[in-house]
Amino acid sequence: MGLLSFLFGGCGKQSAAAKGVTPQTMPPGELSYSQLDITERFDDPLRLKPDDWIQTAALNESVPDGKGLPPVGASADEVYRAADRLSRFRESIAVPNDGVYCPVCHIANTQLARLRAPCPKCGRPLLQFGWD
Ligand SMILES: [Zn+2]
Repeated sequence: MGLLSFLFGGCGKQSAAAKGVTPQTMPPGELSYSQLDITERFDDPLRLKPDDWIQTAALNESVPDGKGLPPVGASADEVYRAADRLSRFRESIAVPNDGVYCPVCHIANTQLARLRAPCPKCGRPLLQFGWD
């Protein structure tokens, strides 16, 4: 584990502990994921500029039976509805260092201030995205 990874992980744990919020507080059998896409590199937000957009990968292609994830091949609207539900959950727990993404175009940006602003590609409101 590199230094950046250590800092990033440590920071996240500390904030979660301070707020008394951990993934284990989620009701069992309900939401296993709080977003539909992931990035391949944990340090993406550190090298991205505020106006940079990065390609993301759909989680349901690597975790086909993940709870809360739409089926592979779901329509754009189905995918977006599922992502919107998960984003509202994520928004309610105020995760530090989050950015935004479009689950339909598979792009993400580090600026949480863009939450619910139109996606630059498809115009759907951008959803909250975690990088780790
Ligand atoms: Zn989009």
